[in-house]
Amino acid sequence: MSIKDQISIINSEIKGKAELVVVSKTRSIDEIIEAYDQGQKKFGENRVNELVEKFNKLPNDIDWHMIGHLQKNKVKYISEFVSLIHSLDRLSLAKEIDKNAKKYNRSIDCLIQIKISKDETKYGLNPSSLNSFYSDLKEFENINIIGLMAMASFTKNQDLIADEFKEMQEIFVGMKAINSNFKILSIGMSDDYSLAVENGSNMIRVGSKIFGKRNY
Ligand SMILES: *Cc1c(COP(=O)(O)O)cnc(C)c1O
Repeated sequence: MSIKDQISIINSEIKGKAELVVVSKTRSIDEIIEAYDQGQKKFGENRVNELVEKFNKLPNDIDWHMIGHLQKNKVKYISEFVSLIHSLDRLSLAKEIDKNAKKYNRSIDCLIQIKISKDETKYGLNPSSLNSFYSDLKEFENINIIGLMAMASFTKNQDLIADEFKEMQEIFVGMKAINSNFKILSIGMSDDYSLAVENGSNMIRVGSKIFGKRNY
């Protein structure tokens, strides 16, 4: 199926509930243009170099989302233009984002990445540290926390994934009740976005379902 067809199917499935971030990592400019021509404006990348290169080559009304693990020394390359950072998970990174945002006289929207899966390789903040982390972030005037992001376990076990999404939904609803700036719950990828939307996701990040399998 074509990129265009996949995008319309996904968009009709999530209509009125969630927004689609097209995950364009490893994809060519032509493939991205095909998605863009279908009306997509939000694209997600997980590597800074690739994100910067694509930002420079593609139309400037695209909202670029940084969805992958972010190293402090690379923050400076994306601070002028990044639209949303999904992967804020430590104070030292927040400090760096805040400093760079100030340079450009802007405020950068961020999601706090929560480690919900028991997998060893996943980044993110332990849910039990969320409240104190969030209050530590208040000193950073040029960071805007607008929600949470998480990745489910890498497994075919749908019940486990559903439990993880339910836990994320609870955490999100709890934060939202006391912080009116919490708006976004970014959960759900190609294989699990329907389950995520059933459990309160309002932003899904989908790559291979749209473009086909990646080679890594
Ligand atoms: C690659 C990636 C996705 C998209 O994965 P697909 O399975 O291709 O949909 C979503 N979120 C993050 C953080 C990713 O790195």
